[in-house]
Amino acid sequence: MNSKDNKSMGKDFGVTPPPRGRGWGKGAVLFPGSFDPFTLGHADIVKRALGLFDSVLIAVGYNEQKSSWMPVEERVATIKKLYADEPRVSVESYTGLTADFAVAHGVAVIVRGVRTMADYEYEIQMADVNRQLSGIETILLPASSQLTSLSSSLVRELSRFGHDVSEYLP
Ligand code: ADP
Repeated sequence: MNSKDNKSMGKDFGVTPPPRGRGWGKGAVLFPGSFDPFTLGHADIVKRALGLFDSVLIAVGYNEQKSSWMPVEERVATIKKLYADEPRVSVESYTGLTADFAVAHGVAVIVRGVRTMADYEYEIQMADVNRQLSGIETILLPASSQLTSLSSSLVRELSRFGHDVSEYLP
């Protein structure tokens, strides 16, 4: 089959395939979330994203209308401290649309974690909206098996009832 046939079958994708192996995900990736609080599950996504991209920008989202468990400044400070020795990780707070924040910071890819089918359904909708808003692509990393039940809300709930939650936090 010649290239003309390929085109007529809609197979002219018009893109050069990315190089294999190291380098395909060069550049920065944005990891947005509430991180209220930042758990071992989040840290696992950051670690794995660092294996795929040059740097990770952790964007701590907040909503002035909604109260959070931990003030946004405290969430940012805690995460910054965790990665104080990792120059490839930076942390910022933001409010408003993630797509706008990504464009303002020149980041073209978002990374998110997926634990369950419910996460997946939510994430594919967000990914589609963000792509339509600004052309940004989202990659979804499946949660590591030992962390699939861990969520910030679980940590908040356990903590509320006086349970020691340190084993869930990095
Ligand atoms: P949001 O409120 O935006 O969902 P979260 O802080 O709850 O923010 O989560 C941020 C991202 O981290 C989401 O993609 C979520 O699915 C992912 N995540 C949370 N916990 C885990 C975990 N245990 N393993 C993998 N990914 C996780």
